[in-house]
Amino acid sequence: MSPDLDTPANDTLDRLISNNREWVAQMTAENPAFFADLAKGQAPKVLWIGCSDSRVAVDALTNTQPGEVFIHRNIANRIPSEDVNVNSVIDYAVRHLKVEHIVVAGHTSCGGIKAALSTGSVGVINRWLQPIKDIYIDNRAEIDALPKEERADRLSELNVKRGVRTVAHLPVVHEAWREGRHLQIHGWMLELHTGLLTDLNMTIACIEQVDSIYKVH
Ligand SMILES: [Zn+2]
Repeated sequence: MSPDLDTPANDTLDRLISNNREWVAQMTAENPAFFADLAKGQAPKVLWIGCSDSRVAVDALTNTQPGEVFIHRNIANRIPSEDVNVNSVIDYAVRHLKVEHIVVAGHTSCGGIKAALSTGSVGVINRWLQPIKDIYIDNRAEIDALPKEERADRLSELNVKRGVRTVAHLPVVHEAWREGRHLQIHGWMLELHTGLLTDLNMTIACIEQVDSIYKVH
């Protein structure tokens, strides 16, 4: 490659690579077999479905190591029934990894939720956020009664609730329950201003908690 085509020095990316080298050295010093063991396979107990927001750093927030949490992230942690990506992740996590917990996690100050609550255009994301506008419409009286600064966070919670129910209605989840497997679906919120995760206490843990209309045989 000629010198003028070389990638220019980039402090941001150089920092990521040098951080990586330091982290590997630290992990290897603590446990020389860490990466060799990691390469053998994964057996995470938790599937996390959360927002792509850079502040929702799952490993750091939960102080977990590589291999512990299977992760899917997208803008505003949506779980559309027609989305092959998120459905593939859930299917693989439940059927093959046999996770025991699925955490649907929203967060405060979510840009996606705020955009859904506004009438400003965000390009192609408008289509992605449309179902969140629908959740707002379904709960408009409750949300509009709140102080303006609390509305987006409440809509975030309702979006998590919708996500938990969507997962609980999936045939792959019903199959796991019918096999007698331990599988719980949880709704959590991350409060960005404190860094704390809160359980919204909407856990669905068995097929008896699912309305019969969703139980397809
Ligand atoms: Zn977000």
